[in-house]
Amino acid sequence: MAKGEDLDGRPIKPITICMIGAGGFIGSHLCEKLMKETPHTVLALDVYDEDKISALDGYDDKIKHLLEPYTVEWKGRLQFHRINIKDGDSRFEELIKKADLTINLAATCTPAPAERNTRTRDTIYSNFMDAVPIVKCCSENKKRLIHFSTSDVYGETIGSYLPKDDPLREDTSFSVLKEDMSPCILGSIGNIRWAYACAQQLTERLIYAAFAGPENSLEYTIVRPFNWIGPRMDFIPGIDGSSNGVPRVLAYHLIREEPLKLVDGGESRRTFIYIDDAIEAILLMIENPERANGHIFNVGNPNNEVTVRQLAEMMAEVYAKVSGGEAIENPTVDVSSKEIYGKGYEDSHKGIPDTTIINRQLGWNPTTSLWDLLESTLTYQHRTYAEAVRNEQIEENKQ
Ligand code: NAD
Repeated sequence: MAKGEDLDGRPIKPITICMIGAGGFIGSHLCEKLMKETPHTVLALDVYDEDKISALDGYDDKIKHLLEPYTVEWKGRLQFHRINIKDGDSRFEELIKKADLTINLAATCTPAPAERNTRTRDTIYSNFMDAVPIVKCCSENKKRLIHFSTSDVYGETIGSYLPKDDPLREDTSFSVLKEDMSPCILGSIGNIRWAYACAQQLTERLIYAAFAGPENSLEYTIVRPFNWIGPRMDFIPGIDGSSNGVPRVLAYHLIREEPLKLVDGGESRRTFIYIDDAIEAILLMIENPERANGHIFNVGNPNNEVTVRQLAEMMAEVYAKVSGGEAIENPTVDVSSKEIYGKGYEDSHKGIPDTTIINRQLGWNPTTSLWDLLESTLTYQHRTYAEAVRNEQIEENKQ
């Protein structure tokens, strides 16, 4: 594929993209890629405010570096609009109408389960109700939509229902998740951890059934991310995020030289993908609509599968390397899910993304190893936070 051409050798025409939730982790990387490597224009929309901490949930502003006046290179191609889509502020509809493509990244998804448990209703509103007007507006105005869902929609794997000592539990055919074949198995209503997955699943079903049927012709692509990791995915409470927030990864404890907390033994298995690999997949979707429309894509790295315990141990090792310090002697400490998340927590024990469809449609494969993605991410975390966290510890010791 030559530069400036799509996968079928056709020249790529510059388009305008309305990106909702552009100021978050994924949006910031996607904006950066689009500005640096493509001719496209982005109408970036988020609830960011000037004080760095946004009005909503303490989100940090992650695209400020792209919006500063000195970044003249792409002047005019990146416009920021501060809009909360929750507020009945219909300006977002005007932006969708102006654009060729809408990418919906807005969601209450940080931090992981703790927030979902305590704020179930907000989670359902954010991941379903707030998405409905976006889907409707794209459909009515014949605008293409790339919607970000989640790997959580798969819920529990079939394997997890087998007895704990059943050897078949480890059989990968019970835990490989296929977009067009795997069932979505969610726990009981009382297990409110599944509200997020359920809300996102309903949004997917709405896109598929109500708007993408034969009589409507919404051009859509649904993305199911599997644990994307990279710089800017996190914040440190009280340093660059709200002081009552809980960050997504545990770099905070590593920087403080404290052991990482392992929920229920850290036996769950997960795959992790580097943000740059994942953003490459999204760019292929943006620039190859005919190949991406009408598909749901898993975007994850099946080769980077570890237990959460193995991940924590590797993080401690990598962090010692990038910080030039000693590895913590006991890098993990066991805690129960009830202690951390309260009653009603449940987790899927394993889930590997099948990437056959995205590979067939877009020729995409992730390449970054787990060690390399941790090294790059933790180097960023160390450079960004270590000094502030140490100062915080000095203040604590004075008290
Ligand atoms: P993020 O929290 O960093 O970004 C979401 C952005 O949406 C934030 O900047 C937030 O301010 C904005 N937003 C939320 N509500 C809004 C509203 N009402 N109006 C305007 N903006 C609003 O999350 P992310 O990691 O960038 O993820 C983006 C999407 O991908 C989310 O839908 C998330 O559920 C999904 N996802 C991500 C991962 C991952 O590994 N990062 C995994 C599964 C699913």
